[in-house]
Amino acid sequence: MIRVGVFGGGGRMGATVCEAVLAAPDCELVAAVDPFHAGETVADSDVVIAKDPTAFLESEADVTVDFTVVDAARENIRWCAAHDIHTVVGTTGFSVDDLDEYAELFTHSQANALIAANFAIGAVLMMRFAELAAPWFETAEILELHHDRKIDAPSGTAVATARRMAAASQEWAADPTNTIVAEGARGGIVEDAIHVHSVRLRGVIASQEVMLGTTGQTLSIRHDTFDRSSFMPGVLLGVRRVGEFDGLTIGLDALLDA
Ligand code: NAD
Repeated sequence: MIRVGVFGGGGRMGATVCEAVLAAPDCELVAAVDPFHAGETVADSDVVIAKDPTAFLESEADVTVDFTVVDAARENIRWCAAHDIHTVVGTTGFSVDDLDEYAELFTHSQANALIAANFAIGAVLMMRFAELAAPWFETAEILELHHDRKIDAPSGTAVATARRMAAASQEWAADPTNTIVAEGARGGIVEDAIHVHSVRLRGVIASQEVMLGTTGQTLSIRHDTFDRSSFMPGVLLGVRRVGEFDGLTIGLDALLDA
């Protein structure tokens, strides 16, 4: 049995992770930590949400899952490295400097970390297909759509996709725009190359479309998430396998290939 602790257990994703862990035959939900939901009981269990991560030490968690907010996740990740507890992180909004710091921290820890901007298998494939297509097109833009309570923009998936596309090709056409009528009309620019447009719409969970264009043709690669359960097979894969991948692993790809 894998003993799993959940950071942010009172949140939307955290609660869904708790439910998935409770339903997984090879996992046991041993603790949940969420200072804003401390004292509440996780649905369909007798796990009472704790206010701080010492609950993971007391319950001897093997691995934690983190779907919180980036400022909290930064501390949680450092805490897991210092306490030699594996961590699977879905929280988005980390900078390149953050990831460099965690790579260093987990080289010296007995534990490993997996940080993935998107745990949906379809989204992971979308990123891979976009990276594959990038060298064959000169223009590309990303449209990402999320629910209206998402507080960071662009989404972690959009930034990760843009970074991978920018790394796969340096041959992007210059933006011809010289008059901006409404600020932000051309979106955010990632890696000086890919424009990313963020839509926040009630009713949406998470969608992304990567649009690529070259002479006489366009290619659109689109992924839609209809329910938070779509992330759970990826999260459980991470929980089961994070122990095999030394140090810091970024993205689910490594786990899918091995
Ligand atoms: P949410 O606001 O519903 O939940 C966040 C929870 O974190 C809240 O309950 C909050 O109380 C808790 N929290 C805050 N500080 C904490 C701390 N120090 N310790 C423990 N818990 C703490 O948000 P959500 O919709 O569940 O999303 C959470 C994160 O997951 C966001 O960054 C979102 O972008 C990301 N996300 C990632 C994926 C993915 O596949 N990687 C999928 C969906 C959402």
